Amino acid sequence: MILKDQVAVVTGAGQGIGAATAKLFAQEGAAVFIPDWDEAAAQKTAQQIVKAGGKAKAMKCDVSKQAEAEAAMAAAVKEFGKLDILINNAGITRDVSALKMEAHQWEQVIAVNLSGVFYCARAAAAHMRERQYGRIASASSIGAFGNFGQANYSATKAGLIGLTRTLAIEWARYGITVNAVAPGFIETSMTAAMPEEAKEAVRKTIPVGRAGQPIDIARTYLFLSSPNAGFITGRTFVIDGGSALHGG
Ligand code: NAP
Repeated sequence: MILKDQVAVVTGAGQGIGAATAKLFAQEGAAVFIPDWDEAAAQKTAQQIVKAGGKAKAMKCDVSKQAEAEAAMAAAVKEFGKLDILINNAGITRDVSALKMEAHQWEQVIAVNLSGVFYCARAAAAHMRERQYGRIASASSIGAFGNFGQANYSATKAGLIGLTRTLAIEWARYGITVNAVAPGFIETSMTAAMPEEAKEAVRKTIPVGRAGQPIDIARTYLFLSSPNAGFITGRTFVIDGGSALHGG
């Protein structure tokens, strides 16, 4: 078991990539804490893990609120005794072309996708520093390279790359690694709303010949979160079946 006796927080693990990550981490021996602003969805993931013989606890939390992010990290430590791993997975889209985008659409995406990561990472690092060990990984996106209708989302996912590099430099002395994963097209509820023709067009641009699944990203987080990944930090890993090789 790669994460035997480790404690992981996976934000936004009520569904999609986060849920797949929480379940995989539990299978690999971690106790998993699940803060999600959809409490019922978080409880469902936790119950599925416990039913399968793993350890999990859910909590209602909006990561974009600093006090809630800090309370979630403290609750994970209280519940499971320590904190080894943080996966900053929670994220939202509010797509609209830039000239039509309203301030609240811009601000909400920045608050969740960028400020939320900062608040959670800082709160987690305070606990990790005490034990001189930690693994943090966050959800960027190939949208970081620019995408029509996603000025807000793209700005956060690109901003995350700079944040990741900076935290990696600052926290290496505490034994904490900080990385990001930039998924391509992954089939979750986030992408389900796209018209079928658009999805088919995207699938055709993926060299490996299929859309990504949540488990593809979960396995990448597992690799970056393992004790053996201590020499990998500050990097963003594009996991997209090769789609960005077309010039992204
Ligand atoms: P998803 O299915 O929408 O799941 C995201 C989860 O996070 C949902 O349960 C969501 O709750 C929760 N969440 C959103 N805002 C939150 C907040 N402020 N506090 C706590 N929880 C919150 O998304 P996904 O497709 O699995 O994506 C996961 C991450 O990967 C995101 O950061 C996304 O940007 C990134 N990503 C996804 C893709 C893709 O193709 N799917 C590609 C690149 C990057 P609600 O559903 O209630 O909002």
